[in-house]
Amino acid sequence: MPVLVVGSVALDSVETPFGKADNVIGGSGTFFSAAASLLSPVQLVGVVGSDYPMDQLAPLERRGVDMAGLEQVEGESFRWRGRYRHDLNSAETLETRLGVFSHFSPKIPPQFKRAPFVFLANIDPRLQLDVLQQVDRPKLVACDTMNFWIESRRPDILALIKHVDLVTLNDGEARQLTDCANLVKAARWIMERGPKIVIIKKGEHGAFMFKERSIFFAPAYPLEDVFDPTGAGDSFAGGFMGYLAQTGDLSDANLRRAVVVGSAMGSFAVEKFSVQRLLEITRDDVVARVDEFRRLVAFEQEQGSAS
Ligand code: AMP
Repeated sequence: MPVLVVGSVALDSVETPFGKADNVIGGSGTFFSAAASLLSPVQLVGVVGSDYPMDQLAPLERRGVDMAGLEQVEGESFRWRGRYRHDLNSAETLETRLGVFSHFSPKIPPQFKRAPFVFLANIDPRLQLDVLQQVDRPKLVACDTMNFWIESRRPDILALIKHVDLVTLNDGEARQLTDCANLVKAARWIMERGPKIVIIKKGEHGAFMFKERSIFFAPAYPLEDVFDPTGAGDSFAGGFMGYLAQTGDLSDANLRRAVVVGSAMGSFAVEKFSVQRLLEITRDDVVARVDEFRRLVAFEQEQGSAS
């Protein structure tokens, strides 16, 4: 089944302790599409400017990303410049230039309107809501956001989450949005406002999935070399939603598997700059890494021991 995504399609300039990349392809919609397309067809909605290197999106198209909803218009593409210091868990935004996104009005192609899975990736929440109003009763709608939008468009985010089933955020964003220091309370705060599921990612410390009556935790893959964390969150979401769309199963057991697939996908994204690593890997690589996760957390309880 296809998954529809709206998000930024960007040019990123990133500095990490290991190197620098200038004007490489990035954006929440791009990372999401690169990850999800390994598992299911993807329908991308977004906008780029006349300066965008469209040829660099061709590998995504070859992998099943339908670009009918990606407009190219006169003007400058969305640009993000960020830096990571030794704590690779948090990006320092140096510059955000919305460019053509500041006047974007998404038009969902008719063939995209019935997508059963919809991901509103990190972008202006007014655009996320606009897209949601144009689709026909999806099976599952999820959204993401970040500090930039929480600071400038909080009321729009609160209006949006009333209409989504699932929210993904990192721990800092969850605290900022809810004003709760405790993540269990932060998740509950969000669930009280509409979503039935909240996923809070904690970078190299894994991710929690909260539902009304259960909490599930998946670790992050313990990589020896994290090269560039940009896009880990969007790739997590791509793995998670791509797996749900591939299986069409929203049972609790399958949602838990999807969190692990998301975690695996995030771990690949950070091994190289931009979407480079996500474009190299195959489904078999993902399956092998998911299996490593299983071994990572498996243990046997001693017979008769206290539990
Ligand atoms: P993450 O998965 O959280 O590391 O997201 C990284 C991507 O988010 C980068 O490729 C950026 O282009 C994109 N990005 C950064 N700031 C924003 C923003 N304010 N709105 C939408 N996308 C953004």
